[in-house]
Amino acid sequence: MKYISTRGGMEPAPYSAVLLEGLATDGGLVVPETVPEVGAAQIEAWRELDYASLATEILSLYATDIPREDLERMCRAAYSPENFLAEEVVPLTPIGEANGAPLSVVGLSEGPTLAFKDMAMQFLGQALEHVLAKTDRTLNIVGATSGDTGSAAEYALRGKDGIAVFMLSPQGRMSAFQRAQMYSLTDENIHNIAVEGVFDDCQNLMKALFEDLEFKRANHLGAVNSVNLGRVSAQIVYYFWAWLRATDALSEQDRATAKVSFTVPSGNFGNILSGHFARAMGLPIHRLVLATNENNVLDEFFRTGVYKPRGAAETYATSSPSMDISKASNLERFVFDLLGRDPERLAATWGELAAEGQIDLSAELPRFEREFGIVSGTSSHADRVATIRSVHETSGAVIDPHTADGVKAAREYAEAGVPMLVLETAKPAKFPEIVVEAIGETEPLPEHLAELLDLPQRVVEMPDDAAALREYVAARALKP
Ligand SMILES: *Cc1c(COP(=O)(O)O)cnc(C)c1O
Repeated sequence: MKYISTRGGMEPAPYSAVLLEGLATDGGLVVPETVPEVGAAQIEAWRELDYASLATEILSLYATDIPREDLERMCRAAYSPENFLAEEVVPLTPIGEANGAPLSVVGLSEGPTLAFKDMAMQFLGQALEHVLAKTDRTLNIVGATSGDTGSAAEYALRGKDGIAVFMLSPQGRMSAFQRAQMYSLTDENIHNIAVEGVFDDCQNLMKALFEDLEFKRANHLGAVNSVNLGRVSAQIVYYFWAWLRATDALSEQDRATAKVSFTVPSGNFGNILSGHFARAMGLPIHRLVLATNENNVLDEFFRTGVYKPRGAAETYATSSPSMDISKASNLERFVFDLLGRDPERLAATWGELAAEGQIDLSAELPRFEREFGIVSGTSSHADRVATIRSVHETSGAVIDPHTADGVKAAREYAEAGVPMLVLETAKPAKFPEIVVEAIGETEPLPEHLAELLDLPQRVVEMPDDAAALREYVAARALKP
C-alpha cells in the first residue's frame, strides 16, 4: 500500500514514511492510493477477535511496510486492558431508542485521558517509537489542541525516548479537568504552551512553524494532529468493532444484510473521516451522521454544499469545547473522494478556497447522502442540557456534552430497524458543569484521576506570535 497526496504532487510513499506528518510535501493530505476492500465473509471472520487482534488485522491493510509481528505487538501494547477502564476496550451501552431504532453509545473514552483521542493516540505512540527506533532519529512533536488531542498525545508520548512534545492550547478555553490533565505532567519531554487565542489561532501558529521548511528540518518537527495518517487509520478499527458488536445478536442470515448507522460528534472531520474510510472499505454503514455544536461550519457544508471556514472571532466558546472548530482540517480528504479522486480538481478547488475564503460544491450536494451516506445536524447549549437529561432519565446513562451533540442529531436521523450508534467522544467527568446543570450531579472521576485537580501545574503562557514560539521551540527541541 502506497500513499499519495490529494493534490497530486508527491511521489507515492509507504505508511512509515508518511506516518509522522499526514501533510504531503505539496501541502495536500496523504491518502491511500486505493482503499483496501474487505468483503462480508472477511468481516464475519473477524467477529471472534478481541480489540487488539481486530486492530492488527485492519491496520495491516494500511501499514503494509511494518512487519506483521511488530504490528501485532504494537496493537497489543496500545490496546492492553491496562490502558482502558473497560476490559473489552470499547463497550457498547444501550440508551433507549428513537424512531423505532435502538440507540447505543460506543464507549471510545475508556483510555487514560477519558476521550476518544486515546484510541488512535495510544497506537500512534507505539508506531512512532517503532519508526524512530528503526531510523535512529529524534522527533519534536508540535501540536495544537482544543483540549483532548493534547492530553491524549502527551499521555501516549510522555517519557518516550527520542520524542519531545510542544503542545499549544487556547488560554481559558479548556475545562479545569482538561487543563489539569495536561499541565500536571512533569515529564521532561512534555512542554505545555497556553496561547492567548482560540484553538484555530493555535492551529495557525503550528502551521506557521511547519510551513517554514528550513525551521522544520533543522528542528525535526513532527505532528500528531488530526490529519495524522496513523490516527485516521487507527480510528477505522472501532467502526468495524462497533458494527460487529451491534450485530452480534443477529442470526447469521440477518448479519449478512445488516446495516448500522453511526453518529459522530465532529470538529476537524477526523473521527468521521475514518468512518467514511470504513464504509469505503465495505463495512455496511447506512448513514454517517455528522453532529456539530453552534460552530456549525460542517453542518452548513453538508446541508448546502458551501464550505466557508470561519475565523477565530466568529468561533463561539461553547459547552462542548472540543468541537469549537471552524475550519475542518480533514475535509480535504473527503472532498478528494467527492471529486472522483482527481488531484487536479482538488488542487483547483483548494486554490479557490484559499483565494475566495469559500468553495461552492452545491452541484454535488445530492451525492453527499446518496453516495457517501453523510447527513448532518447541529445543537445548542439548551439541546445538550435537554439531551443529557433525557438520556439519563430513559436509560440511567450519563453522557458528556459532545456525545450529547451526537445523540441529538442521532435522534433526528434514526430509522426503524437500523441500529444507531453514537460515538462517545469523552466521559462526562471531564465536563462536570453542564452535566450538573442537566441532572443535578455528575459522575465521579475514576479513582486514579481524583487527585489530578490538586496537583501543581506546569505551563508557559505565550502571545499569539509565531516568532516567540519559534524561539521557544528551537531552544528546547531535542537534537539528533
Ligand atoms: C476531538 C474531539 C471531537 C471532534 O473530533 P474530530 O475528529 O476533530 O472531528 C469531538 N469531541 C471530543 C470530546 C473531542 O475530543
